[in-house]
Amino acid sequence: MERRAIAIQGIVQGVGFRPFVFRLATALKLHGFVKNQTGDVMIEVEGDSPSLDRFLNELQNHPPPLAKIETLTWRPCATRGDVTFEIHDSDRQTGGEIFISPDIATCDDCLRELFDPSDRRFGYPFINCTNCGPRLTIVTGAPYDRSRTTMRTFAMCEMCRAEYENPTDRRFHAQPTCCPACGPTMRALDADGRDICIGDEAVEYLVENLRDGKIAAIKGLGGYHLACDAANDFAVAELRRRKHRDEKPFAVMAGDLAAASVFCNMDARESELLLSPARPIVLLAASRLSTITPAVAPGNPLLGVMLPYTPLHHLLMRKIGRPIVMTSGNRSDEPIAHHDADAVERLAGIADVFIVHNREIHVRCDDSVTRIADAAELPMRRSRGYAPSPIRLSRRLTLPTLAVGGQLKSTFALGRGHQAFVSHHLGDLDHFEAYRAFERDVKLYEELFDVRPRRVACDLHPDYASTRYASSRAASENLKLIAVQHHHAHMAGCMAENGLDRPVIGVCFDGTGYGTDGAVWGGEFLIGDFRSFRRAAHLRYVPMPGGDMAIREPWRMADAHRIDSGIGENANVTIRRMIDRKFNCPITSSMGRLFDAVAAMTGLRERVSYEGQAAIELEWLAGGVTMDGYPIESSGDDPIVIDTRPIIRAVAEDVLKKTPAAVVAQRFHRTIIELIVQICRRLRDASRIQCVTLSGGTFNNLLLSSHSAARLREEGFSVFRHRLVPPGDGGISLGQLAIAAATEE
Ligand code: ZN
Ligand code: ZN
Ligand code: FE
Repeated sequence: MERRAIAIQGIVQGVGFRPFVFRLATALKLHGFVKNQTGDVMIEVEGDSPSLDRFLNELQNHPPPLAKIETLTWRPCATRGDVTFEIHDSDRQTGGEIFISPDIATCDDCLRELFDPSDRRFGYPFINCTNCGPRLTIVTGAPYDRSRTTMRTFAMCEMCRAEYENPTDRRFHAQPTCCPACGPTMRALDADGRDICIGDEAVEYLVENLRDGKIAAIKGLGGYHLACDAANDFAVAELRRRKHRDEKPFAVMAGDLAAASVFCNMDARESELLLSPARPIVLLAASRLSTITPAVAPGNPLLGVMLPYTPLHHLLMRKIGRPIVMTSGNRSDEPIAHHDADAVERLAGIADVFIVHNREIHVRCDDSVTRIADAAELPMRRSRGYAPSPIRLSRRLTLPTLAVGGQLKSTFALGRGHQAFVSHHLGDLDHFEAYRAFERDVKLYEELFDVRPRRVACDLHPDYASTRYASSRAASENLKLIAVQHHHAHMAGCMAENGLDRPVIGVCFDGTGYGTDGAVWGGEFLIGDFRSFRRAAHLRYVPMPGGDMAIREPWRMADAHRIDSGIGENANVTIRRMIDRKFNCPITSSMGRLFDAVAAMTGLRERVSYEGQAAIELEWLAGGVTMDGYPIESSGDDPIVIDTRPIIRAVAEDVLKKTPAAVVAQRFHRTIIELIVQICRRLRDASRIQCVTLSGGTFNNLLLSSHSAARLREEGFSVFRHRLVPPGDGGISLGQLAIAAATEE
């Protein structure tokens, strides 16, 4: 007889881990207990050594599907002669049960029950279990139990309670457990918010309306979707008109993998990602034979595709049997609607039908958007299904830390020990609603993960709403404030998720980031580590006529670059005057703005309806790269200043010669790729550093990212890219946290 005390860290709570331990111990006739403690699982178990070995072996090798064991340690202890194996209540004194699971797509067992006419949850749109269902989106506080979720208003019926309390049941301690007798109800409303029908009839009503080309607002896990028939030109055009979303692509939901492969091409990795429990939107190459109307993603060679992830989606997709547009339920760039009254009001005039229910969404959570790039995942928006799973930091945080992120595509991150809890996507904090959610969700995460920050990290930009929040909390709670330069945070985020902790060459390309000299940076080569950096090279500064106006109107950047290059004869007179008088013309080294300028020069687009649109279209237009790029010149060596003028003059010459725009786009991409290689080579020669990180929103451009990585590897560099957080500003908070971890107290 012996007894062992086992401690397990990782994603082990809210994923059916304790019942699994219970069943395993019982099967092996071992006695003792299991309990949750400050985010870990503690087990004490006694029996004969071979059984104990088997127990440990099974724990490590066959944990429940959603569990992720990061570390498992054990030590022998004195036997106690237990005669049972028990699941102990959570240890509230030590912080209680810490909830860390994201929302999970309906599992196969629940799906089977959903379509089994003899099951008591047959056709019930709120079916879930320990292995699936809502988590983050319904939680209102800690410790995680039903009374601190939006399910608190539903009293479990006797049958549900029996399942909930039975350690061998799939619904043991599944907080959102419910059934048609005791759980939420779905209702269909008309365009004016009047009741039409409930339950099964509501699904029927939804299907009929979508078939008729109507637009529906559907309450999902993290917010409302707007939906319509993806093959109906008129419906999609009407949705676009009503939503005032001129060109931004819509995502499409397909019933299953086979249905999706009719209208897009995918490889094994992509289909695996589509089917993963997070069920993200995956960007896939649209097939030529697609029945999806082009209005879904105009001009876009890619299509954002997802598979059903709630029981309602499954019921809907089975009944309707065709792909459906599923886009965030909001007007243009506002945050997604998630409260019923609010949704009916805000989506009035857009939706013909509302599918609502009385399980409240507490945390608004958008769909995640991701893709496969060179056989690895490249996240573009990390949100539902991913957040708040922790990301492991190689450096241990000595103090609990809050990192508030940036301003656009914002996320925040809370750190404790080696764990970084990077939040769901909060959107653009200049929207009041988004900012309010940011404030509230920071507090919620602090409670959920039992992290009381003693330090707060923010962007160097003084006017970001997140920076102001950080300063005011630092002042009122007497916390240490760490201001992190934007591109240093990009680089550190990429280092952190790749487990790097030595100096790197950080290639940081994006639209906008506040520089240490007060200029707008964005075409940067940094050399440094978590602790410090030096700006080793950057694009030549040019004016941004009109500041933010230059982001929405790329023709302004084209003029600014032409004037800078001495070929501005035909430039707009007002722009010239603004530049001459330095009136509202911040200077920038932004790579995003250089892409904008070139896109405008090729005649691709003068104005954009969302940031980065011109650059994205330049990538589509290129479709590949040529061998011959434009001249690359630079001056100085600390920092190296990359001259954009020869590039601009060569582009102008090509345009004048009527070189096809696609060729110009290909040459421009080649130029930037070779520029990266050239500068990195020079920096390596001087510093002996051969590790390169590629970070910043510009690296959402797959053509640029893939070719740069390949060329750098050819030249003997080790290249690291983003796989866990987005290269864009959604990854800033992780970088800030990693930098804080390396900063002395
Ligand atoms: Zn399930
Ligand atoms: Zn029930
Ligand atoms: Fe950025």
